Amino acid sequence: MAVTAAPERSQSPGAPSADPREILIRVRECLADIPGNIALHEPRFRGREREYVSDCIDSTWVSYFGAYVARFETALAERTGSTAAVAVSSGTVALQLCLQLAGVERDDEVLVPALTFVASANAVVHAGGIPHFVEVDDTTFGIDADKLRSYLESIALRRSASCISRATGRRIAAVLPVHVFGHPVDMDELNRVADEFGLKVVEDAAEALGSLYKGRACGSLAPLAALSFNGNKVVTTGGGGAILTSDPQIAERARKLTTTAKRPHRWAFAHDEVAYNFRLPNINAALGLAQLEMLDSVLAAKKRLWSRYCDAFKDLPGLSVFRDAPFAESNHWLVALVLHDPNPVLLEEILVTLNDAGIGARPAWKPMHQLPMYERNPRMQLPVAESLAARIVNLPSSAFLAPEP
Ligand SMILES: *Cc1c(COP(=O)(O)O)cnc(C)c1O
Repeated sequence: MAVTAAPERSQSPGAPSADPREILIRVRECLADIPGNIALHEPRFRGREREYVSDCIDSTWVSYFGAYVARFETALAERTGSTAAVAVSSGTVALQLCLQLAGVERDDEVLVPALTFVASANAVVHAGGIPHFVEVDDTTFGIDADKLRSYLESIALRRSASCISRATGRRIAAVLPVHVFGHPVDMDELNRVADEFGLKVVEDAAEALGSLYKGRACGSLAPLAALSFNGNKVVTTGGGGAILTSDPQIAERARKLTTTAKRPHRWAFAHDEVAYNFRLPNINAALGLAQLEMLDSVLAAKKRLWSRYCDAFKDLPGLSVFRDAPFAESNHWLVALVLHDPNPVLLEEILVTLNDAGIGARPAWKPMHQLPMYERNPRMQLPVAESLAARIVNLPSSAFLAPEP
């Protein structure tokens, strides 16, 4: 179980803390060949992007019909070992649909890690549910399955197939693990807890395309998963997302719900329920397909960059570059420098020093229960999420920062 030091420890004599100027020197060393300001994460288009996008324009099939959507979906399913992928207009709506397809209904609670991008919690609300924030651990940055089990033992009632919160009387319907910065959650343990309490599992794999857990692809570790292809992710379609599933019937249902529940017909417009326009346009899928073809070289470059950072920081006191748990192989979406002790003042100093020098370093997200719209939501004690938020600095992580030697 994760052990976290009290904030005071960093001020105690003899506990060396990190030096912001020294951090800047080391980051600069890692990025020596790169001129100018360096953003946190940027895409590059070095494959067949122009060819595929031009092909869309030439064919005039830029919108919902056209061959690239199906090709992109097939390639995604193959890459992740899923039965089917359904391309949609964002990662957020992919998550919303996954939750609805998993059976989340109005006023159901969904367990969401406190340390995540706000879209994970928003998607629960869009699906009609209520995010219930749970603790993470500092070896994966993901949901701490052991703590979740003890928490549910103390607050939840099993009633037939349902799990009911004693505190609110509401059903706890699902759990939404997030592979933070691409680092896989310990899914076997989490799936066991979900089984014990009758919870559905939806994977937020938005950041984890290409990551492996015990050799299996993130996005294939639960019956439903969501990917994002926003501009800052490892593969981009400009904006977009995908639903991954192992169940062909669920895939069919997802296709229907995302295309206004239109009954297939050559000309007639007939719709048989209130549904959504969430489909990914063909022109975005064309960009995505070309990006996906480059994924292996992107992953190799990101791994090189991560290991350069590891070398550069290995002898600095007070911090380290985050490494995967032994069961995991991350896509290294964002490299995280982790202070050994939580120290908001030092964290701020590091961010100011790096950003003033043109290095686009960022902190982790403010924990969900500290955001105004979520501060009254049900939650566990969250000391590790709070501590990590005062310890993490993400460093520039774009693949092109570590070109092939
Ligand atoms: C990016 C992201 C999303 C949402 O994806 P969008 O495509 O931006 O809607 C959801 N969850 C996590 C953890 C993300 O990083």
